[in-house]
Amino acid sequence: MFSHLWVDMMERLGLDPEVIECRWGTGADEDRMEEALRADTGHKIRAVCVVQNETTTGVYSDVARIRSVLDKLGHPALLMVDGVSSIGALEFDMDAWKVDVAVTGSQKALSIPTGLALVCASDKALGAMKTAKLKRCYYDFADMLKTNPSGSVPYTPSLPLLYGMRESVALLREEGRGNLVARHRRLAEGTRAAVRAWGLELLCKVPRWYSDALTVVEVPKHVDSNDVVRNAYAKYNLSIGVGLAKVNGKVFRIGHLGNMDEVSLLGALGGVEMAMRDAGYTDFTPGAGVGAAVAHFQGESRVLPGRAL
Ligand SMILES: *Cc1c(COP(=O)(O)O)cnc(C)c1O
Repeated sequence: MFSHLWVDMMERLGLDPEVIECRWGTGADEDRMEEALRADTGHKIRAVCVVQNETTTGVYSDVARIRSVLDKLGHPALLMVDGVSSIGALEFDMDAWKVDVAVTGSQKALSIPTGLALVCASDKALGAMKTAKLKRCYYDFADMLKTNPSGSVPYTPSLPLLYGMRESVALLREEGRGNLVARHRRLAEGTRAAVRAWGLELLCKVPRWYSDALTVVEVPKHVDSNDVVRNAYAKYNLSIGVGLAKVNGKVFRIGHLGNMDEVSLLGALGGVEMAMRDAGYTDFTPGAGVGAAVAHFQGESRVLPGRAL
């Protein structure tokens, strides 16, 4: 869905995107990207755009592999990444992957309120800006670059959010990048173990594309996933995500990114179990998913950064 929103934005801006359609639940297909780029002998494609973590389907695309396709072909297109639900939670390496433009927001992994958009641009992208003809105003990098050296931005900034982000980034640094990525992996694997124990399947079928930021669960045909979400909210004060757009009614989403830990997630998994039973899915023993997650978390447990036994 977020890829399609990106496509919609490009079309409204008068750009001409070439869209590589895939089944919902698959990642950005490197082979098909390679085909499209190989066919582009005149280098008309100016940018390859990819949503790193698709928050609708629970799919984490392999940006490093997409970079290696561009390198292999010597194609000069810019690499642009929507990292809204991945940056600050999952592996993302702007420099090693030579990402040219990355965008994220304050409301996902950074765990602060909605309101800040964060953009990183490479030297190559800043170079392309100088000759780009597309009209722009609000997010013109040139305006940002003019005011940034004095610690400012061209428009009135949301100071409370900037203070929030300072703390949020301090927390990320304190945990450390390796621990951060490992925590999200651990939470996701525990959740996937729960899904298996419930006898259900993920929307994403390809393990290398599994998202560690959220888990998107398919419900059996006789169950409406919106019922699961409604029961969770109305009866257990638990917010899980509805299936968006094409997969509405067919899946629900369990978020486990940002300010989240094993104990909180176990509560959520217990809530999901109750809500699924309320919605008519009873083909599992109560506690089966929670138990599988407990076993996973306990097996992987270690002393928290900064704590001692
Ligand atoms: C949430 C999300 C967005 C949208 O962010 P907005 O702040 O609503 O514009 C875009 N892409 C992804 C991958 C997201 O998860």
